[in-house]
Amino acid sequence: MKQNPKANSLLKKIINVITFVDLPIRKKFVLFSFGALFWLVIISAIGLLTMFDMSAKSRQMVVKIWPQEKTANIAIRKLRGANISMHNIIIFNNEKGVTANYRRAKGTLDDSIAYLNTMLKGGQVIDYNRATGQLSAPYSMSRVEDEDKRKSIEEAILKIKDIAKLMEEITGARLNSIKNGTAGSAIPGTGTLGDKVTEYDLLTRDAVTLLNDYAIAVGKEWQKFSVTMKLWFNIAIMAIGLTFVLAALLSIVFGILISRSLEKPIRAIIGQIKSLSTGEVDLSKKLAVASKDELGVLSNEFNKLMDTIGHVTSFKKVIEEDESIEDIYLRLGKIFKDDLKLDNSVIYEVSNSKNTMRVAYPSEAEGTELYCKRDIQLDCDLCRAKRTGHPVSSIDYPDICKYYSEAAEETHVCVPVIIGGNVGGVVQFVCERPESCQVTDLENKIGRARQYIIEAQPVLEAKRLMRTLKDSAFRDAMTGLYNRRFLEESFENLIAGVLRRGTTLGLMMCDLDFFKQTNDQYGHDVGDMVLKETSNVIRKSVRSSDLVIRYGGEEFLVLLIDTKPEDSIAVAEKIRDSIEKSKVKITGGFVQKTISIGISEFPIDTQNFWEAVKYADVALYKAKERGRNKVLRFAMDMWVGEKY
Ligand code: GH3
Ligand code: MG
Ligand code: MG
Repeated sequence: MKQNPKANSLLKKIINVITFVDLPIRKKFVLFSFGALFWLVIISAIGLLTMFDMSAKSRQMVVKIWPQEKTANIAIRKLRGANISMHNIIIFNNEKGVTANYRRAKGTLDDSIAYLNTMLKGGQVIDYNRATGQLSAPYSMSRVEDEDKRKSIEEAILKIKDIAKLMEEITGARLNSIKNGTAGSAIPGTGTLGDKVTEYDLLTRDAVTLLNDYAIAVGKEWQKFSVTMKLWFNIAIMAIGLTFVLAALLSIVFGILISRSLEKPIRAIIGQIKSLSTGEVDLSKKLAVASKDELGVLSNEFNKLMDTIGHVTSFKKVIEEDESIEDIYLRLGKIFKDDLKLDNSVIYEVSNSKNTMRVAYPSEAEGTELYCKRDIQLDCDLCRAKRTGHPVSSIDYPDICKYYSEAAEETHVCVPVIIGGNVGGVVQFVCERPESCQVTDLENKIGRARQYIIEAQPVLEAKRLMRTLKDSAFRDAMTGLYNRRFLEESFENLIAGVLRRGTTLGLMMCDLDFFKQTNDQYGHDVGDMVLKETSNVIRKSVRSSDLVIRYGGEEFLVLLIDTKPEDSIAVAEKIRDSIEKSKVKITGGFVQKTISIGISEFPIDTQNFWEAVKYADVALYKAKERGRNKVLRFAMDMWVGEKY
């Protein structure tokens, strides 16, 4: 079957709205409870309304119909009573008996007229039995409104009045006949009196029939009413039942939909967490965020967490393949700045052997004083984070670190980097404008930054170890200068750069004069001291970009990078002069040495680097020959041997 996607999404939207998908969980349940309450109120309202209605109708019937039936029946009874008295009038042959029965009949007929009049006008009815003198419970009745009924009652009253008239006539005749002694001829249907009695009976029968019909009609009305009531009752029960079923169905459906909307994302999160713990998770796979409630927020946060884990994991892979430790510092700094929006971060690298620390990121700030006083770079134990190995934060204690030199209102957090069990570095995060950094936001960002730092720690450790190893292979342990191996490894890059830039490389071969004598005279230790002092003097005399190499025992090769032709002589002269003037303190005095220097220039003298080294050596040899403590630039005529 073809499905209409538009209709589907609309249906989904409607279901989402009515199942409160986007509302907070508490509101969902409150609304659900209100829904249940609503149905309860509806059911109760139907029940109560039906009850009230039925009770009102019953009351109406009780006040209206029942008294009518009862009063009509009382009137019938009275008529019958009057009839009996009438017959007694005929039967009795004494005046007293006739008169007594006449009174009773008259009273009874008057009573029935009075009752029927009450039906017409409405009022209180008290049934009084003249034979027994008993009073029944009074009841009230409302005026009969129906025109036909009123006519019947009026007709009955007229008939009763006729009956009363006739009874008076009969009584008069009876009393006369008793007086005249002609009693005994009053048999109904015989003689004038007999005819009157027959008429009386007929009239009574008519009146009774009339009232009986009335009572039957009212009785039917009563019956009709009870059928209607029964129907109403059944309808009410059905309405309550249906509403209950509907409410129950809706509650079940809503319950299922709401619980499913809660259950689905929770299951998805549990699934992701499970696969995370088993390591089978696909970090790029996101949880669908289907709602805006707490579960939507949870899914979102979970996705962010997965993102961070994914980033951190891929970050580790990337830095493992980075060439140098500086690349890692740079990458970390970029992540802090670009991804985590921590604008001002500084990475310090600690040298535990020298007890110093240097600014490793931003690299251009190396050697400068940033947010901390320069003293910490010269003595890294002054840095609180380095010394304690704990994060240092000015969030709670603004003046926590006295070596933080910037304005007190700035926030700074320093996180130690643990390498090989020691603090191998410190990452400092600074928020320069306090109004722009909310504490929770800053702590959140730093928390994420620490994840990256933790991931970087083992890689930094490995890279630093490699760097130390490389250093020990390429450096001379005693003087700290590069060794010959370093030159062999790096000369190709070096000369390629010089050639590319079209500059000159100055080569100076330096050799201490009569050094053997120093050893012989003062011993090897003093000789070593002289060598260290010489290497310091040479290093200080050249630029930091120039290379100083311990080429042999007391021979130093200095490579002046991008120097101007002939400038090398001036530098060499400076070295020679400084050595001559420097005094190495020994017990009981000092030692002073001189140095001879031979100079060549690449590629001016030769296009071959090693040939240039040889030329410098040749010039040195000539300097020694010409009396030592001299600087000599190589000239072709000094070269008498074969081509190099
Ligand atoms: P010259 O002026 O001709 O250079 O005379 P020199 O005595 O300096 O002669 P040469 O350069 O041949 O002597 C090198 C001496 O340096 C030999 C060796 O005993 C000494 N030497 C080499 N390496 C070391 C070292 O590491 N420590 C010490 N103390 N002496 C060293
Ligand atoms: Mg030598
Ligand atoms: Mg020497």
